[in-house]
Amino acid sequence: MANVAFIGLGNMGGPMAKNLIKAGHQVTVFDLMPAACADLEAAGAAVAASATEAASGKDYVISMLPAGKHVAATYLGDDGLLAQLDASTTCLDCSTIDAATAREVGEAAAAAGIGFMDTPVSGGVAAAAAGTLAFMCGGSADTFPRAQAILSAMGKNIFHAGPAGAGQVAKGCNNMLLAIHMIGSAEALEMGARNGLDPAVLSEIMLASSGRNWSLEVYNPYPGVMETAPASNDYQPGFMTDLMVKDLGLALEIAEQSGVDNQMGKLARALYGKHQEEGNGQRDFSSILEQLKG
Ligand code: NAD
Repeated sequence: MANVAFIGLGNMGGPMAKNLIKAGHQVTVFDLMPAACADLEAAGAAVAASATEAASGKDYVISMLPAGKHVAATYLGDDGLLAQLDASTTCLDCSTIDAATAREVGEAAAAAGIGFMDTPVSGGVAAAAAGTLAFMCGGSADTFPRAQAILSAMGKNIFHAGPAGAGQVAKGCNNMLLAIHMIGSAEALEMGARNGLDPAVLSEIMLASSGRNWSLEVYNPYPGVMETAPASNDYQPGFMTDLMVKDLGLALEIAEQSGVDNQMGKLARALYGKHQEEGNGQRDFSSILEQLKG
């Protein structure tokens, strides 16, 4: 069993850290919010007064923070963790952040001789609680087995996507595609319904045909078609529109930096941005179907 520091105990990090405790690891936590630390203390974690105190002497540091600036501030600079740790600690950043910052931190860690991977997740709060997240890891092949050994307590599918930053690139590609096929599925279902088709029957037809995709298969955006989908629960998340807008922004940054003109990705971001501005940021992203109602 490993000694693990966990930094960032929000909607995702909290349940992830609890799964490490359940798997028998010794977990020391730090978050800026005392209430988040207290919740983990009640679940069996030790609480540290800073990220540095939490990380000191541990086998692993795992972070789950809001954005690139929080990750850079945690790991880089004279006060950052990379300046305090040595090769005996492996660092895994599970946050969804810009690929450029992930590469910068990964390269700084390599220069300091510390194993580091960007390991963003697919799956939301329910998957974090159930321990069924998918991890997309960017960094060296030498570090990957150590990452796998600990991430397996929090997720099912753990992929080595490529070098530093590759986890964030994989996540950006996946979520941009998700946004596009969700909008496409919503458009097809609304068009069918306006022409007298039962959306449940149309879904069945498309699932057995070439329009088949994840949004239709497990997350149908049309209310009433799939009992377990957010659409049948007034679009309670699920996966918030705010987070989809964030992820599309990160994906388009990657596209721009690599000279790819992602026309559908840009359109998806414009549609989700409008949906967010109209007060739907906290609703599930499949509520984009309502934009089609005019
Ligand atoms: P959250 O806002 O609920 O939690 C973030 C936590 O980090 C907060 O508790 C905050 O106090 C803490 N924090 C911020 N700066 C800190 C610092 N410098 N040191 C210590 N703690 C600090 O966010 P979340 O929903 O848990 O998401 C975390 C990451 O996971 C984000 O990058 C997000 O994009 C990604 N993600 C979220 C979901 C989801 O469904 N919520 C799904 C996949 C990925």
